[in-house]
Amino acid sequence: MAKFDYDIGILGGGSGGLTATAGSAQLGARTILIEKDDKLGGDCLHYGCVPSKTLIRSAHVYHMIKNAARYGLPLVEVKPVDYRDVASRIQRVIDTIQEHDSKERFCGLGAQVEFGDAIFTDEHTVKLGGKEFNAKNWVISTGSSPAVPPIEGLDKTPFLTNREIFSLDRLPKSMIMLGAGPIAIEMSQAFTRLGTKVMVVQRSGQILSKEDRDMADILMEVLKGEGVEFYLNSTTERVRDAGTEREVIIVQGGKERSLRAEAILVAMGRQGNHGSLGLDAIGVENDRKGIRVDARLRTTEHKHIYAAGDATGEHLFTHAAGYEGGIVISNAIFHIPRKADYTFLPWCTYTDPEFASIGMNEKRAQEAGIEYKIYTEDFRGNDRSLAEEEHIGRIKLILDAHEKPLGVQILGPQAGELLSEWVAAFNGKVKLMTLVGAIHPYPTLGEINKKVVSNFISEKIYSEKIKKGLKFFFHLKGRAACQ
Ligand SMILES: Cc1cc2nc3c(=O)[nH]c(=O)nc-3n(C[C@H](O)[C@H](O)[C@H](O)COP(=O)(O)OP(=O)(O)OC[C@H]3O[C@@H](n4cnc5c(N)ncnc54)[C@H](O)[C@@H]3O)c2cc1C
Repeated sequence: MAKFDYDIGILGGGSGGLTATAGSAQLGARTILIEKDDKLGGDCLHYGCVPSKTLIRSAHVYHMIKNAARYGLPLVEVKPVDYRDVASRIQRVIDTIQEHDSKERFCGLGAQVEFGDAIFTDEHTVKLGGKEFNAKNWVISTGSSPAVPPIEGLDKTPFLTNREIFSLDRLPKSMIMLGAGPIAIEMSQAFTRLGTKVMVVQRSGQILSKEDRDMADILMEVLKGEGVEFYLNSTTERVRDAGTEREVIIVQGGKERSLRAEAILVAMGRQGNHGSLGLDAIGVENDRKGIRVDARLRTTEHKHIYAAGDATGEHLFTHAAGYEGGIVISNAIFHIPRKADYTFLPWCTYTDPEFASIGMNEKRAQEAGIEYKIYTEDFRGNDRSLAEEEHIGRIKLILDAHEKPLGVQILGPQAGELLSEWVAAFNGKVKLMTLVGAIHPYPTLGEINKKVVSNFISEKIYSEKIKKGLKFFFHLKGRAACQ
């Protein structure tokens, strides 16, 4: 039997890699973690979730102060934002979380941590600097980077991505966002609130194109109301560095149009970071987007090489990467065959209002050819939303033809938090009748979860058939006349 120095080797110290490392080391597997950067934490901590949510919070507070009058409060004179202060707050939050994601912590758990550029020399061996490390199993969790499309002139024009945007030394006066996915949409609102003039260019006819159009359109109207300009159904033809400004030529409805701004943010999708790992030479199937894996996250040719997180090119979320890190540990260390199941994968776009989803939306149900029914409830019918002055939004419950839940979307205040009840209900197979029968505290935003179910249940309870039955058995007298 071949002897290996390590039970498991992990490439990439982000959300997926750190989950796998912590799991395997604590289970007593000899674990080596190799990270290319000089610090652990990955994109989520340094250039993704953490800085974006910290920025969004600063922008939210600034927006609230400027809109004090909406709450019956005196108007406040506010100074312009000094982005260096916002950026240093972002760095402070990153530094605090970094302690949890430190080399020392993972060494303390029993893993060896190395930094540098690794390459596979065979299917069990990775070379790093002058050293070789061989392991029985490998996990590739090297994450993703912003995809930069081949737009004419972009290579000669300075532009920003998620790697630069959180550490700028001043707030751009204006910014063109190429793309209208979650990153661009979150940033469009945050920068507009901070004082940047933002223009969003999107090829398709809606923002957040994976979401249902009706919900995405409500959000777009909110953003428009705050000052974001949208150019939908528009292709970016070319880009030019025009000195202090950048020029973006778009084509909309067959006509060329010039947009100018101080900065460009490219947020047009992601590509895998696995290009330099030597995967083709050892026969691991991959393309620009990601590494091909089966349901147990094993690569196609080598069942002892796994991929997790953004490296697979699917489900690009921190919680998905963490979940997949756990699946890998079940398969590689416990030897318990476990498949990844994304049926009830939740996700959230952290705009204001937030947009959170779990399971299928209408688009996905239609693509899958599934018959469905929709029940909705608007936030303007929720007393707490009115008290909070946060009444824009809607919850949408999707049931299949047998009234089994397929998914829920919530566009509204704290939608990401409200979704947790659905995460528990769907994963715990809680009956809708149980959810509607449970007492929810008043007045809370969470009552909307119960209300949307009661819209479905009332359709059954207050039916003519039930009324007839009650009249027959208990001699109910029917409607009273209102004087
Ligand atoms: C602006 C932005 C906001 C986001 N917001 C959210 C959010 O709110 N919620 C959410 O769930 N997700 C969010 N995401 C997505 C989230 O950041 C990713 O899905 C998550 O980081 C994926 O984790 P990962 O472990 O696969 O990759 P990463 O966390 O990126 O980790 C990969 C690691 O591998 C290292 N690496 C790269 N190449 C090599 C190599 N050759 N050898 C060794 N190491 C290598 C990298 O340096 C990195 O440390 C956001 C992303 C962005 C860009």
